[in-house]
Amino acid sequence: MVSEEIRARYKAVIGLEVHAQMLTHSKAYSSDANVYGEAPNTLVSPVSLGHPGSLPVMNKKTIEFAIKLGIACGCDITEKQHFARKNYFYPDLPKGYQITQDKTPICTGGKIIIRDENGEEKEIGLTRIHMEEDAGKSIHDMDIYDTLVDLNRAGVPLLEIVSEPDLSSAQEAYNYLTEVRKLVRYLEICDGNMEEGSLRCDANISVMRVDANAFGTKVEVKNMNSIRNVQRAIDFEINRQIALIETGEPIAQETRAFDALKGVTVSLRTKEAANDYRYFPEPDLPPITVTQEDIAQVKTLMPPLPRALFLKYTNELQLSTYDAYNLTDSKPIALYFEEVLKHTSHVKNAANWIMGEVKSHLNETGTSIERFPIEPIRLAGLINLIASGAISHTSAAQKVFPAMLSEKKDAETIAKALDVLQSNDASLVNEIIDAVLSQHAEEVSRYRAGEKQLLGFLMGQVMRQSGGKIDPKTGNQVLREKLEG
Ligand code: ADP
Ligand code: MG
Repeated sequence: MVSEEIRARYKAVIGLEVHAQMLTHSKAYSSDANVYGEAPNTLVSPVSLGHPGSLPVMNKKTIEFAIKLGIACGCDITEKQHFARKNYFYPDLPKGYQITQDKTPICTGGKIIIRDENGEEKEIGLTRIHMEEDAGKSIHDMDIYDTLVDLNRAGVPLLEIVSEPDLSSAQEAYNYLTEVRKLVRYLEICDGNMEEGSLRCDANISVMRVDANAFGTKVEVKNMNSIRNVQRAIDFEINRQIALIETGEPIAQETRAFDALKGVTVSLRTKEAANDYRYFPEPDLPPITVTQEDIAQVKTLMPPLPRALFLKYTNELQLSTYDAYNLTDSKPIALYFEEVLKHTSHVKNAANWIMGEVKSHLNETGTSIERFPIEPIRLAGLINLIASGAISHTSAAQKVFPAMLSEKKDAETIAKALDVLQSNDASLVNEIIDAVLSQHAEEVSRYRAGEKQLLGFLMGQVMRQSGGKIDPKTGNQVLREKLEG
């Protein structure tokens, strides 16, 4: 670990390359199913196996998915594109090349907005987004002698999202990946599951003196299966590089792997010279043209996006940044909130109920909001009932809400059945308060003699005797009037 003082002399420069497996039904260039977790080598037609003479056929859905992401990030969509072959040998790549896009990525430019260390907005530029295919999977830990290979993943469509080196810390990288994952999930183009490898990240990291004007040598780190591990790997790598420079050692341009158990990066291979993949245009796939009409068509398919909702919640609805983040974190939650708002004007109360009782219930029972038994309209009904003073928040949370989980009835019906409806009926309020005042004549005279703190005690008696059935606000007001009067 380098000291704080030395650390402060350097700044980190980070660019991320994210691979997102697309949620298409079939693979990129064949009709093999695109499913995770099947028995090895069962989703493999001659195309996936790279048999000579087999021909790839473009899955059009992948273009739509890429354009969706491009629109969401404000990228330029490339009109004329072609695929390229990236040639290399590896046992999980039976064709001996990967079909990718080299000179004509489908998207260029654009940005992703993240929060920096201070919670301020920061734009991270995108260099490009291109479509390519996944390789198979080499399995090194199942057989003690041999490496096994599973080609189910070979040919699964990927989007590669390459960022500019605009990230300055491990925390920013964490926030960036969180935003990317949220975005692909909102767009429903990738499930964003890093543990299963459907979202993967290579981190390019370099450090430089704060007063330097050229980037340092970058190191690429792979093999991180969670956003948290990307953050850990980057933190480790920044410290490692600074320590090397401080001792006068050069930084080797290399690829390293993150060892999550030890929390360190280890060298995989050095990049003496740039890899020569001998890219050339893929002769078996026709070039693609994306017209303005195609883009307009995809625009009609765009779902609400997290940033637009965030801006709506903070600006129009006047919710806090914290609430807006919380509610837009997952699309189904945001859509649920949107539905609730169609039936109530008590925005902040609705936000609180969803972030509080609803989310707690989901966490405790391991349910998703899609399966949550209280429909938005019924939750809105409960919120309205509380706001009208007809029930207290306490009896709503403790009695009505739990009952609504199992009974498909509206809040008012349930509150009535549970006998927790409060009364603003003046005669009931008067009757209860008069009874309390005569039972506690001594406290009443002490109150009148100046012991104002006895109000709390008397109010407690009123609420107890009413069995929670009078609105505390009304009760409090009438009690004061009677005491003072
Ligand atoms: P390569 O040719 O090694 O693939 P690229 O220029 O294509 O390198 O960049 C790959 C990734 O590395 C991009 O995300 C880019 O932002 C990032 N990157 C480039 N230079 C640096 C640097 N000096 N430090 C950190 N990241 C960098
Ligand atoms: Mg590159």
